[in-house]
Amino acid sequence: MRGRLPGVLFQIGPGLRYYAVIVSKLDDEPPVWTGWIVTSEEVIPMQIDVERDDEGLSTLGTRWPLNRLHQSHVAVIGVGSIGSATAASIAAHGVGSLTLIDPDRLEFHNLVRHQLGRSDVGKYKTHAMADAIRQRYPTTTVNATTDDVVWGTDSVRTALHDVDIIVGATDGVVPRRTIIHTSRRLKKTALLGCVLMDGALGEIMRFRPARSHGCLECRRRTHSGLFTLDDSLEMPYGTGTEHLPMTAIGTDLELLGRLLAKATVASILESAGMADQRLAGETAIVGLRPTGNAPAPYDVTRTGEVRWLPADPPQPGCPTCDQAL
Ligand SMILES: [Zn+2]
Repeated sequence: MRGRLPGVLFQIGPGLRYYAVIVSKLDDEPPVWTGWIVTSEEVIPMQIDVERDDEGLSTLGTRWPLNRLHQSHVAVIGVGSIGSATAASIAAHGVGSLTLIDPDRLEFHNLVRHQLGRSDVGKYKTHAMADAIRQRYPTTTVNATTDDVVWGTDSVRTALHDVDIIVGATDGVVPRRTIIHTSRRLKKTALLGCVLMDGALGEIMRFRPARSHGCLECRRRTHSGLFTLDDSLEMPYGTGTEHLPMTAIGTDLELLGRLLAKATVASILESAGMADQRLAGETAIVGLRPTGNAPAPYDVTRTGEVRWLPADPPQPGCPTCDQAL
């Protein structure tokens, strides 16, 4: 040990001391420390780790567009098994503002597939997820509402005014169509994520406020026979009966939720001019447990296959697509 090196001596008890010393220090690097446990009989080398002052996303520096994403505001409608993973992942990407919209409380049967845990049962999903995200990603501002997108459309529309992009991860055909109709009326891009055919396929769709991009119903009409795909989205929840067994494993729902977040963040960055964030299409079909029996172009046969499709045009007379843009 050289005496000119700065060192720190910790006396932690009679006859026992820690001695730590900086052994190298470059201008832009954290110091490298080494240390020893010193007793009256021996000196034992000790491992020392030096932590940075900043431990958040800022450690990425300029390698990720944090400033652009911090200015962005995303709404997630439906904070269930897919939406909770989407919301957490959007915050993990560095998005600065999140609005969570869902009227439901967390129930015990949700736990096997939800991002929240047992201590949150009974709480509103949006309130509990907002707390969890604030704790894990403190640079993200989270607003939480318990409005229902179908029955509380007016207040949901108000909540969406300052949002850049809308994400829908709800069950049910009517809520999904309402999200797309509302986002088109607000002239905002929206994305939907769900699993189809009892978990056989995942689906992510992006709807841009453009004349060439048809709404959800028009996309279904373009591919005849696809309307039956939505049947599995109509779960008889909230009827006072015992809940049905899960049809898709929670990990597949989480996978879809995180892919939905990736597509959402990519959409923000693509619109900001980042060419490397262009999506491969407007609809992604993901093989989870594919049967191969879905109608084309949903006839994916391999697990892990992601098939991207272009946007479908509006159908004549569609009340959603005919809104002024
Ligand atoms: Zn339409």
